[in-house]
Amino acid sequence: MKHRTLKDLKDIKGKRILVRVDFNVPVDEKGNVTEDSRIRKALPTIKHLLNQGAKLILMSHYGRPEGQILDDFRLNPAVSTLEKLLGKKIRKLDECTGEFVQKVVKEMKEGDVVLLENTRFHPGEEGNHPDFAKELASLGEIYVNDGFGVIHKAHASVSGITQHLPSYMGLLVENELKYLTHLMEEPKRPYTIVMGGAKIKDKIGLIKNLMKKADYILIGGGIANTFLAAQGFDVGQSLCEKDKIQVAQEILIAAEKLKVEIVLPSDVVVATLPSDNAVTMDIPIEDVEGDMKIFDIGSKTTEKYKKIISKSKTIFWNGPMGLYEYKPFGKGTKEVAEAIANNKGTTVIGGGDSVDALKRFKFDEKHFSHISTGGGASLSFLEGKELPGVKALIEK
Ligand code: ADP
Ligand code: MG
Repeated sequence: MKHRTLKDLKDIKGKRILVRVDFNVPVDEKGNVTEDSRIRKALPTIKHLLNQGAKLILMSHYGRPEGQILDDFRLNPAVSTLEKLLGKKIRKLDECTGEFVQKVVKEMKEGDVVLLENTRFHPGEEGNHPDFAKELASLGEIYVNDGFGVIHKAHASVSGITQHLPSYMGLLVENELKYLTHLMEEPKRPYTIVMGGAKIKDKIGLIKNLMKKADYILIGGGIANTFLAAQGFDVGQSLCEKDKIQVAQEILIAAEKLKVEIVLPSDVVVATLPSDNAVTMDIPIEDVEGDMKIFDIGSKTTEKYKKIISKSKTIFWNGPMGLYEYKPFGKGTKEVAEAIANNKGTTVIGGGDSVDALKRFKFDEKHFSHISTGGGASLSFLEGKELPGVKALIEK
């Protein structure tokens, strides 16, 4: 399996290159981008191509307009952020295909950057319709995919388009895959997975696949409750997926055979309601009962997790340890993140809320080896699934 990368892309002076980026960034009510890392991380590829005199036509989706043209989903908010980061003007179009777009791209000069309108305004995008893919492809001479956040989707601008143009992998996608592959192949040991978040049903595939590789799986967040229930503990009124208790039991049994240590909280922070001034108790798991709800891992558990993290050489973290959005329940997540930040080994973080927690607690991304720009994409990869966008780039 070999993908062509930017190293293989030569003599591009004056060529029109279609670049699939992921500018699906959070935007506030005033239309300002509140978190620009997806745009920032597309810069190396954009600059690399511009420096060689290419003409760039950027394509992205934004939100879920579901094939309709909706003003709230225009890509306009990304423009000023990109211009600022790039230090040059770009041209944003209000469509992504059609005569006018054709005319504009034909008139482009070396070093010009055009941003097409949200590709999901067209039903052919998510449907991966061949006609739409062909129309997009007709705008350029070469295709580069650097939209890691959508690499797990067989969409026209991700997958179908590669049928029509010589296609290459961008630097961001290459870098993401490098770190994620490292987690699957020959990680330095001890290798620890820190797994939290809301729902166990979203994480089963991931746990099942990663437990074959890891030495420790430290479990927190809502998903810990289902595991604790599987061990026979009363979790009160906590979030707990009753229909997944059996799967949790199966995972615990399989872990013993694989000699991976799944560690569950031995103490927890409980309250009856989630709020910023909730009355909380930090109690042993055996003492949970009645209308108590588990909203964070307890202080002894946090210490134990920190100790295991500090002796690990490879760490993958997905999912907050508690309801970190509320002050009384953020301690487990913050301290675990701190221990990961202090680790000198390979540390990889994936998951929208986990990354949001890092921002909220003001961690500098420099302290981590890699923060994935694609929650769903990175989880799909680590579950062992094939990524349609990567498959489409394989040399034919
Ligand atoms: P990620 O996006 O990083 O993969 P998830 O989407 O799986 O993470 O889960 C994040 C959510 O899980 C957060 O909104 C957080 O408040 C919630 N959560 C964490 N712990 C608990 C808990 N004990 N009970 C309920 N929700 C929880
Ligand atoms: Mg999430």
